[in-house]
Amino acid sequence: MQVSIEISSLKGVGPKLNEKLNKCGIFTILDLLLYFPRNYEFIRANIAFEEIDGEEKQILSCRVKGFDNDIRTRTGKYISGIKFEYDGHIVEGKWFNQRFIKNSYKIGQNYDLVGKFKKIGNRLEIINPIIGCAQAKSSEIIPRYSLKDDLSDKILIKLINQVMADVIINDNLPKELIEKYNLIGLDEAIRSIHFPKGKVELENAVVRLKFQELFTYSMKLLLLKNKVRSNDGIRFKLVDELTDLKLSLPFNLTNAQTKVVREILNDQRSPYPMNRLVQGDVGSGKTIVALIAMFNVIKNGYQASLMVPTEILANQHYLEAKKLFEPFNIAIELLTGSTTAKEKKRIKERISSEEVIIVIGTHALIQEDVQFSNLGLVITDEQHRFGVEQRSKLINKGRRPDVIVMSATPIPRTLALYIYSDLDVSIIDELPPGRKKIDTKFFVDRDRNKAYDLALEEVGLGRQVYIVCPLIEENEKMDLNSVEKLYDELKDGIFRDTSIEILHGKMKPKEKAEIITAFKEDKTKVLISTTVIEVGVNVPNASIMIIENAERFGLAQLHQLRGRVGRGEYASYCVLLGNARSNTTKKRMEIMTESTDGFYISEQDLKLRGSGEVFGLRQSGDAGLLLADIYEDTEILKCARGEARILLGSKEPMHMKTCSDIEKSIERWSRYICFN
Ligand code: ADP
Ligand code: MG
Repeated sequence: MQVSIEISSLKGVGPKLNEKLNKCGIFTILDLLLYFPRNYEFIRANIAFEEIDGEEKQILSCRVKGFDNDIRTRTGKYISGIKFEYDGHIVEGKWFNQRFIKNSYKIGQNYDLVGKFKKIGNRLEIINPIIGCAQAKSSEIIPRYSLKDDLSDKILIKLINQVMADVIINDNLPKELIEKYNLIGLDEAIRSIHFPKGKVELENAVVRLKFQELFTYSMKLLLLKNKVRSNDGIRFKLVDELTDLKLSLPFNLTNAQTKVVREILNDQRSPYPMNRLVQGDVGSGKTIVALIAMFNVIKNGYQASLMVPTEILANQHYLEAKKLFEPFNIAIELLTGSTTAKEKKRIKERISSEEVIIVIGTHALIQEDVQFSNLGLVITDEQHRFGVEQRSKLINKGRRPDVIVMSATPIPRTLALYIYSDLDVSIIDELPPGRKKIDTKFFVDRDRNKAYDLALEEVGLGRQVYIVCPLIEENEKMDLNSVEKLYDELKDGIFRDTSIEILHGKMKPKEKAEIITAFKEDKTKVLISTTVIEVGVNVPNASIMIIENAERFGLAQLHQLRGRVGRGEYASYCVLLGNARSNTTKKRMEIMTESTDGFYISEQDLKLRGSGEVFGLRQSGDAGLLLADIYEDTEILKCARGEARILLGSKEPMHMKTCSDIEKSIERWSRYICFN
């Protein structure tokens, strides 16, 4: 079976199911196999009667003793009953409205019933149990997928099982590596990640797949570096108008900004292409640095482009650039997903003709049909949100353009070495003057009214309020509900006399833009939002942020979110709401209330996270990684990166030919599954 074939050609996948699978991003057999469980349910099997509790699911091998007569309830439902025996005790199975259930069971036979067994005296009762397959094992690990619509784990498990029976997964990592690190085979790993036989098997699978991802990731980064370095770049001049631009700025650059601008301009002058990471805490003023860099490139007669992860951010940068460059006669366009087709066509034509132009946009920039005629500088903002491929794609749109990546996620120095050793690093380690420290507090949930009171006080002073709800991964619909629920609660409750609005990722871009504009113009006082406001929203009048379920966020993210306030001249607050049941949570909240230094916070966070829990898989798709997390899997990353270096190093000096050979191999490694 070829893994590239469409899922709709599988037996049992009709148009309806196909559509549901598509919604989860599953289009091909390969997508299906790489749709890893989000979590696992550990179900114990055949335990002693004393150990059974009604809280957790169990799987018990029960023998059928006899059938009860159906009972009809007053509401017209049928209850069918079957009596079983387990461990010398009677088990009463009950099914609602499944009158044919008895046909599936035979007297005297054993069945593995799965469900919550309730103890009633000496007996057990179970409602609507399903038949599992304990096969006398001591426990079973059931995969749980993160699914949309009414797609069920059961259907997915069935499909994956069906595919696995037919597919052969060839290994694709160099044999020496597999031996050196004692990794299991790829075939086994993919099988085990879906259907682990036990915890050890699961752990082995996770390690193997993470290694694979991080190895590929490292290879790609190193190769990107090589590609950028090993070629001649554009030698830009420093234009005289830079002085005029600096004079026209509404503020003086901080020393840190000046230093970084100098580093960038030096790179621009050099004959080698620039490949630079600009790191700076939230609010440190990275945008202006990027704009100055673009300015010089434009004035040299080249095109420049800036890619950002969200439309909100793209809009904002666009407006800022327009304002700044107004006196300088510079063409600027904005290209995002919601640009109309007609506009897109016009902009693309402009870009592909010889025009000297700045293009600011989202992923729309890396679509195949966007062609630059002479791209001289590529900047990606909020770099952690893009994968290496996406960065690569944009770079490939020019002939050896300069590259700047900007990141507000401070990376612990120890880690930066592994993740960013392909880049030169500039750090903006200073905030613009006059910034007020954000006073951060932690309140337990039941004290939430204190937080709202504080918010009302701020509103009374003319300020504005953000309330952030977590994005709950398990169920995106739930996420909406939680924002909406809170909104319903607050708008008729404590904020009934205050204008309050709601913002989340499921809204149409236009709707979002309207809500944000209203907030910017101070027409809305309170904005309840998901993390869509994490990057880019800049409202200096907002002076307080309340973060619900703060314990669910990573510290780096909390820090990033918190950076939305304290942007103006006012004293600002951040209130973290949550429970502090675990010590780690307490510690984490303490770190947040203690420090506003992003680097310090991320170092502490890393320490607290320790070596990482293997069983809580996450699929964030960060940097194109399915399983691995560059923060948590540092050990694996170190090894993988070391190996990637050795492999690439042995090919030095690297010529284009070997380069493309290696690129092909990487293709092969990065595809989890090859089919010959
Ligand atoms: P970030 O580094 O988080 O991207 P921004 O570039 O969005 O930060 O800058 C945050 C705010 O600080 C913006 O309103 C910007 O105009 C302002 N700003 C940037 N540099 C300075 C400076 N040197 N002095 C005063 N304000 C500045
Ligand atoms: Mg920014």
